[in-house]
Amino acid sequence: MKAIAVLPGKPNSVHLRDVPAPKLLDQPHPHVCKIPEGRAVLVKTLQVGVDATDREINEALYGNAPPGGEHLVIGHESFGQVMEVGHKVTELKVGDYVSCTVRRPGGSLYDVIGRNDITSEETYYERGINLCHGYMAESFVDDAEYMVKVPVNLKHLGVLSEPASVCAKAIEQAFLAQQRLQIWNPKRAFVLGAGQIGLLATMMLKLRGMDVYTLATRPGPHRKQEIAEAYGAKYVSTRQTPMHDLVKQVGKPDLIFEATGNAEVAFRAMEVVAHNGAVVWTSITGGKHDVSIDAAKINLEWVLGNKLLVSSVNGNRHHFESGIASLALGEMTYPGVTERILTHPVNGLDNYAEMMRLLVEDKEALKVFVNVA
Ligand code: BGC
Ligand code: ZN
Repeated sequence: MKAIAVLPGKPNSVHLRDVPAPKLLDQPHPHVCKIPEGRAVLVKTLQVGVDATDREINEALYGNAPPGGEHLVIGHESFGQVMEVGHKVTELKVGDYVSCTVRRPGGSLYDVIGRNDITSEETYYERGINLCHGYMAESFVDDAEYMVKVPVNLKHLGVLSEPASVCAKAIEQAFLAQQRLQIWNPKRAFVLGAGQIGLLATMMLKLRGMDVYTLATRPGPHRKQEIAEAYGAKYVSTRQTPMHDLVKQVGKPDLIFEATGNAEVAFRAMEVVAHNGAVVWTSITGGKHDVSIDAAKINLEWVLGNKLLVSSVNGNRHHFESGIASLALGEMTYPGVTERILTHPVNGLDNYAEMMRLLVEDKEALKVFVNVA
């Protein structure tokens, strides 16, 4: 079957490749974990989304092939349809729509209890990213444990399940951590960045009833502004209104969700969060970026204000379920808005070069994804 792969360590190595089609009894990543007898699910890939991680893997900034090979099949944002299930799978049936989680368990206690998203081991196993092949192929097989059902009436948003899981987890982590305050009822949120993560976070925070400001550099009108406003948030161009000016106008935010991919912004967020507030970091910033900040001022304000920084990556099955539930509630509340994130479909795995080109060059491309079947 066809698959899109890279040669980790070699920049711009993305290519189309012929790989064996998986069978129900295959073990996709036996060097990490084995599918228990009877628990496999074979999925026909329908769509796979790409994001900055895929771009940086192709730039050879990170990513590793599974042991014993030199290529890595990419793709971690999966959506497909169940073709075959093992005899011990009761929660899924042929024809169901699913997304599959990304990280597989290492050896830490967190992994053992199903929290591989917070493994304490430095080596992490992620399908399509690190040491395990991904989903950008015509079909894939995995343990039912990692397959998350997408409701049939949500199939047009199924490819957003993985990014939605990342947002759902990050927000949940902030609320869990803020239980330290005994009562925390955040009213105002800033979402920094209006890419797919920023916009999905905007939706989820609006669904929690917060007054949300979505900040990005480029002045509108444009699609990102339209989507943020359709969710009921206020879009702010930081070129027109820098973050500190916005704070003077509307007050300090109780919660900041940082998703710009810019390390300086991540630290600047610390300058404006309210007393008892929380900053959530989700950007994965490759490379090196020196920034000058007034560390004494931030330290003083943070100590006197009991402020919190929480970082969040990945999502496990629970976060996928919660992300998918938010996509569904969002669709009921703001019908037709979320699909506007899906800006750039690419038809067929053969068009992988176009997929990478859009991902790298097209600044209007909010979401690039491949229609595999
Ligand atoms: C993925 C996460 C993953 C992270 C680190 C992100 O792009 O969406 O699932 O944990 O990269 O590799
Ligand atoms: Zn990703």
